[in-house]
Amino acid sequence: MPETPAWRLEHSYSRLPGLFFTEVEPTPVAEPRLVIFNASLAEQLGLPEEEAAVYAGNRLPPGARPIAQAYAGHQYAHFTGLGDGRAILLGEQITPDGDRFDIQLKGPGPTPYSRRGDGRAALGPMLREYVISEAMHALGIPTTRSLAVASTGEKVWRQDGGLPGAVLTRVAASHIRVGTFEWAAAHREVEGLRALAEHTRQRHYPEIENDPVALYEAILERQAALIARWMLVGFVHGVMNTDNMALSGETIDYGPCAFMDAYHPETVFSSIDRNGRYAYGNQPPIAQWNLARLAEAMLPLFHADEKQAVEIANGLIPKFEPRFKHHWLAGMRAKLGLLTEEAEDATLIQDLLNEMQETEADFTNTFADLTNGRFEAKEWHQRWQSRLQRQPQPREESIALMRRHNPAFISRNHQVEEALAAAQEGDIQPFHALLDVVSHPWDHDRHLPDYAKPGTAAGYRTFCGT
Ligand code: AMP
Ligand code: MG
Repeated sequence: MPETPAWRLEHSYSRLPGLFFTEVEPTPVAEPRLVIFNASLAEQLGLPEEEAAVYAGNRLPPGARPIAQAYAGHQYAHFTGLGDGRAILLGEQITPDGDRFDIQLKGPGPTPYSRRGDGRAALGPMLREYVISEAMHALGIPTTRSLAVASTGEKVWRQDGGLPGAVLTRVAASHIRVGTFEWAAAHREVEGLRALAEHTRQRHYPEIENDPVALYEAILERQAALIARWMLVGFVHGVMNTDNMALSGETIDYGPCAFMDAYHPETVFSSIDRNGRYAYGNQPPIAQWNLARLAEAMLPLFHADEKQAVEIANGLIPKFEPRFKHHWLAGMRAKLGLLTEEAEDATLIQDLLNEMQETEADFTNTFADLTNGRFEAKEWHQRWQSRLQRQPQPREESIALMRRHNPAFISRNHQVEEALAAAQEGDIQPFHALLDVVSHPWDHDRHLPDYAKPGTAAGYRTFCGT
């Protein structure tokens, strides 16, 4: 018997010490109106039908106990105290399947952690998060999801003047970040740290025993797998600060992110990432750097004696690289239709990437073309073809594997920009069209050249915190 859709909110996070959050209510807006609502996600969550007042923060759903979460973070390597400056957690929805998901409003007005910010968000960036997170979900990559975007009827003031305001409802396995541990560690709250670790384990790693080292290793493993997934689809997160790394292993905080067109490891989109700290090719070492900050924060849990704790941490952090490489190589083999393993595979893959870099080949389309047999038999392709012939499996099996690992469609930057521009003018149709395309990334039989065309204007820049 399916349960009747209803809000079933619990608040396990709020049982943590008060250090980790502050109670705060959303600030009502002038004219709440739903711009988009994710009906299939609502159904999966067991939530009732769309209500603009709820998703704009004007009315609390039954059982809500709104809080802003506290956390710290290394932003561009500099440590700062942060917290939800423009987000409010309503609670954890218990789904009909018994799963637990955070329901968070992004842009609901100021909180005690807003600093000089207004706690608000603009429509464009919230729709951007909506479409890119849904694209990532469709690609099978762990990610927070987007339930609704409500416009507020109010303007938000940014460098470029007044923009239409909006509130995004974000759904996440949780919002516990590396920065949440750093927050407790910075306050020298060992008991708080212990409680947070146990909360994290119960929520995301119930299969492991209550042991901080095992927890850390499980977190590291999930991050290694996640970053590999990003790399395999050309995703550039853009702002991998430690406050933007979720311990659930989900992709979180879609700010200046974008998918790479032409393959180049130094690809950067974020307007403020001048040194390329968060460039495409830097994402694995940055993830490891962030995990080193997590290990530092967890030191008192590893061992009461600091020296021994540091020794344990130093043994753990280097485990990231081999785990990442394992996931990446497995994923690359799948992208090339390789069902067996040969020692030379890594070289074959690297040679393709080098050639792509030299020829400025589009990342997504190169692999889609290989999948669909659209390529000239140049030297590399001949090597690849003979490698495929050495496999016992029938060719169809290779192609099926490639079709599941090489998307035909990603959210193309020019399409995103066009859809957002139209939406800001009140025309949501192009946004729906784009959402439909990126929600079916494996549909190689769909002929939609406009959506498969690379197109990132030279100097294309993305912005965060807007
Ligand atoms: P982000 O770069 O989006 O991860 O945000 C970094 C920090 O700045 C977080 O603590 C946010 O809550 C905060 N923040 C970003 N935009 C605003 C805003 N408009 N008002 C208040 N806080 C903000
Ligand atoms: Mg953030």
